[in-house]
Amino acid sequence: MAEDADVIVVGGGLSGLVAATEIADAGKRVIVVDQEGEQSLGGQAFWSFGGLFLVDSPEQRRLGIKDCYDLALQDWMGTAGFDRDDDLWPKRWAEAYVAFAAGEKRDWLRAMGHRIFPVVGWAERGGYDAMGHGNSVPRFHVTWGTGPGIVEPFERRAREAHTNGRLTFRFRHRVDTLVMTNGAVEGISGAVLEPDSVERGKSSSRKVIGDFTLRAQAVIVASGGIGGNHDMVRQNWPKRLGEPPKFMISGVPEHVDGRMIGITEAAGARLINRDRMWHYVEGIRNWNPIWPRHGIRILPGPSSMWFDATGKRLPAPLFPGSDTLGQLEYIMSTGYDYSWFILTQSIIKKEFALSGSEQNPDLTGKSWRMTIKRATNKGAPAPVEAFKKNGADFIVRDNLADLVSAMNALSGDDLLQLDHIKAQIEARDREMSNPYVKDAQVMNIHNARRYIGDKLIRTAKPHRILDPEQGPLIAVKLNILTRKTLGGFETDLDSRVFGNNGEIIRGLYAAGEAAGFGGGGVHGYRSLEGTFLGGCLFSGRNAGRAAAKAAG
Ligand SMILES: Cc1cc2nc3c(=O)[nH]c(=O)nc-3n(C[C@H](O)[C@H](O)[C@H](O)COP(=O)(O)OP(=O)(O)OC[C@H]3O[C@@H](n4cnc5c(N)ncnc54)[C@H](O)[C@@H]3O)c2cc1C
Repeated sequence: MAEDADVIVVGGGLSGLVAATEIADAGKRVIVVDQEGEQSLGGQAFWSFGGLFLVDSPEQRRLGIKDCYDLALQDWMGTAGFDRDDDLWPKRWAEAYVAFAAGEKRDWLRAMGHRIFPVVGWAERGGYDAMGHGNSVPRFHVTWGTGPGIVEPFERRAREAHTNGRLTFRFRHRVDTLVMTNGAVEGISGAVLEPDSVERGKSSSRKVIGDFTLRAQAVIVASGGIGGNHDMVRQNWPKRLGEPPKFMISGVPEHVDGRMIGITEAAGARLINRDRMWHYVEGIRNWNPIWPRHGIRILPGPSSMWFDATGKRLPAPLFPGSDTLGQLEYIMSTGYDYSWFILTQSIIKKEFALSGSEQNPDLTGKSWRMTIKRATNKGAPAPVEAFKKNGADFIVRDNLADLVSAMNALSGDDLLQLDHIKAQIEARDREMSNPYVKDAQVMNIHNARRYIGDKLIRTAKPHRILDPEQGPLIAVKLNILTRKTLGGFETDLDSRVFGNNGEIIRGLYAAGEAAGFGGGGVHGYRSLEGTFLGGCLFSGRNAGRAAAKAAG
């Protein structure tokens, strides 16, 4: 049967674009198939904050951060907690990925015009011991231009390859089956969906107007994860985290539907670690939604006080920005699926960042003039102020009694008692008189301010929460926000997919979130953050290069 291309890539997200451009650059013919329209090219990465995990970068060095491969690998392994036979390939991928992040990743991107905002962020700070979870040092490098800035070089290269005839796009083509002959994958078939000019990120029509079959020597599955499909999230919810949340909001568009995962499994591909997922606990309902159930993640600085639904402060070290999975586990153990931040205007102004390209017009628009205002402005960045004013999860009051009463009204559960909350805040506030204290969160705040990046734009000057000068008081109801699957198809380092019999399935590759960002779960149980876009770059590149080479 005649082939339509050397390789077919399913998915025009970041991992698919990276794979496709590598294939075209190797002189091979590639087709990129996506169920969405051309306006959604780039998938989730377009909406992302563009944060990238890099090790020992010039940006870190300029800020006095001493980082190296060994420290990063120690952090990765302590965070991943690999503990299964299935972790053989994920662990190999982890070692290779950390080497990439400490090696050629930055230069490779830079040569394509990618640039980085000079203040390096400090995500997932841990709080256990040196071998436990978390980044020992700041490593979250924000792309200048956020999500669109990381998609741009690959979209440009893909469009160039399209012009020179090596790359063809097939938008509104939804893959329903992998075509197999004698155990090898040699194509795809599916439905052609009606054209739809709906805006990027909005749900598009699923009306079928035809069918298609395409053949090639290899197929790369780069179809993303399951975060837009709450039924699938609940089905895969790990028993160790108790019952799945009753209420969740979506951190990804609806096309992150997980459908292609089942289709690839039906072809015999081995899916591992499906119970490992990465959902955030600081989700707020978007007052101006783009996709269904649209939620935004707050990237919090270290100072907000965090209370569970019953009004008890989260235990150490579960402070803002420390351990996402630990926080999720704790919150689910309370029997409620929400929690609360209580903070001041001084804290929100300096410490609240919202994850998403559209929530950061200064960085996304590459405007130095607007970005500098983060450090000098009287208020919080405009998108944060807009949430404060319009967001259903925000309460602003001049005194604690009114705040707590409004919190009870918002949740409808009436679980919070003013005296209980007040006693905990006053106790924490008493620790503010000295820089050497016993409250571990207050110690963290002092530690954070010793890092110039945090002092400049991420950590408010230590102050009493109940000091009226720092007010008004703000409470934020935090929801669970779905984002990523950490499991995926088991692959070797060439991104070739293993079958259930332990043999490589000829002609089948997987990259990006569908491959658990490499190997079927490079992150193990947890992430150091900025590792998902990077995982798409690394696994997409490996898949593209290997598939092009195998195409002869
Ligand atoms: C708001 C937001 C902020 C984020 N911030 C960061 C960050 O700062 N740092 C970081 O590292 N990560 C971040 N991420 C995560 C990161 O963006 C994603 O994990 C990554 O982009 C996933 O890329 P992908 O190529 O694997 O999949 P996707 O981007 O989901 O692309 C998959 C594509 O496949 C298509 N597809 C699926 N099934 C089919 C089918 N059956 N037939 C045809 N086409 C199909 C889909 O339409 C889609 O276009 C963020 C994500 C979001 C949403």
